[in-house]
Amino acid sequence: MKTSIATVCLSGGLSEKLEAIAAAGFRGVEIFESDLLSSNRTPADVAKEVTDLGLKVVTFQPFRDFEGMPEPQRSRTFDRAERKFDIMQQLGCDLLMVCSNVSPDSLGGVDRAAADFHELGERAKKRGLCTGFEALAWGRHVNDYRDAWEVVRRANHPSVGLVLDTFHIYARKTDLSAMRSIPGDRIALVQLADAPWLDMDVLSWSRHYRCFPGQGDMPIVDFMTVLRETGYDGEISLEIFNDQFRAGSPRLVAIDGQRSLVYLMDQLRLKTGVAAKGFPALPPRSRCQGVEFVEFAVDDTTAGELAGLFAGLGFRNAGQHKSKAVTRWTQGAINLVINKEKEGFAHAHYITHGPSVCAIGLKVDSASQTLDRAEKLYDTPFRQSVGPGELEIPAVRGMGGSLLYFLDASSRLGKVWDLEFEAVNPGGEASSGLTVVDHISQSTYYEDMLSWLLFYTSLLDVRKTPQLDITDPGGIVRSQVAETTDGALRIALNASQSHRTQSSRFLTEYFGSGVQHIALQTDNIVATAMALKANGIDTLAIPENYYDDLEVRVDLPAERLKVLKANNILYDRDENGEYFQLYTRSFKDLFFFEIVERRGYKGFGATNAPIRLNAQSRWAEDHTAPDL
Ligand code: MG
Ligand code: MG
Repeated sequence: MKTSIATVCLSGGLSEKLEAIAAAGFRGVEIFESDLLSSNRTPADVAKEVTDLGLKVVTFQPFRDFEGMPEPQRSRTFDRAERKFDIMQQLGCDLLMVCSNVSPDSLGGVDRAAADFHELGERAKKRGLCTGFEALAWGRHVNDYRDAWEVVRRANHPSVGLVLDTFHIYARKTDLSAMRSIPGDRIALVQLADAPWLDMDVLSWSRHYRCFPGQGDMPIVDFMTVLRETGYDGEISLEIFNDQFRAGSPRLVAIDGQRSLVYLMDQLRLKTGVAAKGFPALPPRSRCQGVEFVEFAVDDTTAGELAGLFAGLGFRNAGQHKSKAVTRWTQGAINLVINKEKEGFAHAHYITHGPSVCAIGLKVDSASQTLDRAEKLYDTPFRQSVGPGELEIPAVRGMGGSLLYFLDASSRLGKVWDLEFEAVNPGGEASSGLTVVDHISQSTYYEDMLSWLLFYTSLLDVRKTPQLDITDPGGIVRSQVAETTDGALRIALNASQSHRTQSSRFLTEYFGSGVQHIALQTDNIVATAMALKANGIDTLAIPENYYDDLEVRVDLPAERLKVLKANNILYDRDENGEYFQLYTRSFKDLFFFEIVERRGYKGFGATNAPIRLNAQSRWAEDHTAPDL
């Protein structure tokens, strides 16, 4: 299968875009007219650059407002087309993509449009070129691929084909079954774009919210399944207009495009039982059984303070690494690791970010298969030399240069604590009732949000929840969760376009993306809160007003409400059950812990998030002295 990507997907100048596209392994590129017009290079220069990079221009687009024009505009559109043909010949491109007319001057009628396309086909053929017709979802007379196909069919010209674009098809919820009767060789180009389901005008939706397959909500695999029945074997091209992509790194976005295609083609293989040519068959999406450990990179001073915090949270120092300055803290099934090594990966992470989560270890069914899948998905594997007796734990680069390790019970990796650590403090009990990691919250740049969402959903067997917008005192924070169906792994991603939100301030303080909070589960939040208090751990103060409102909002008994208030516990419930949350003060203004109790509840307390964010920003303002 031949794949391509449109220059419009990426940020940067035309040369930068082309280099990124070639570096990501694409062989085809759609040149957007505006990218060419804004470049100071001639079409012939661009053609040479394209060839030198091993690329091929699959189409030049868009050609607008063509079909159904009355005279004198009709003659002028043909003159315009001839000019585009001139450029295409210099570019070394043989397909002009025509999108359906939106002009109020245009006239309807399939035969009229077909006649126009027949003539355009004749002119193209003289130059050895082709044309393709795409129905824009907001086209004035043609806005449905079935009507566009009828125009192409009646034009009945070998140089006139159909262009299918998944966004335009799904945006109008058009039925796919008519596609089956279109002969594959009459399809000139297929463009793929996904998008979240949004209730807004289609033009703005298309121009700003398109995303790569798998990043949105549209069933692109279903489209590909039906497309296969047409026998089409031309280019599959990514055409994404997205503000986040246009603000991101062109190289990383181009790699996301490849990752999205590899994932899509594998889903197609699983659905149809036939592998797509040129695409690897991937091991299954890895089933994550939970978080095995969270590792913190620190220096000598902060190591002591962090150990103090862990002890206060009821963790027990249970292990000392046999050869490194690394300690293990446990409670329930939770392992927290403090790494104060003076060299190696964790140290480098500390130098960049300060005290921080440098790695997360995930329990998976097969660590080696997970790494294999990750490598095929263009993720970045990580290896560092290991000492004698140490395990080489498979890992890939995660957010902000951190690591995601994979461990399984079926190999020696399942014995990492026994093999690499010396048990200390045997039997020492210091529990506050914490059981497992509930969720890990990562803050990232707004433009990288979709990238990390695809990273997690393509690699692991997780689903994504709908996007939520949360009100922070400094603006809006967008939040989206990738989670396993059983809740064994929940990763919450947060990003904001405002520089004043807590999420954005974190990026500044932390010098990049990373873990901002870790939520730990308890079976009895009140008992945990009391234990924390006894240990001298301060929790985030929640204002009276919250509890006054809670009293009228939910019919909790007065006694219960009093206990929540006395312990700074936030409360929520949904159709599945109840949720209780409390927060620790942040460590060095960088990260903090959340304690949660779930009684069947599936969400994350989004209604409480603004209360928490306000409380945290008040606390930060009150503690701005440099020595804190
Ligand atoms: Mg299109
Ligand atoms: Mg949380």
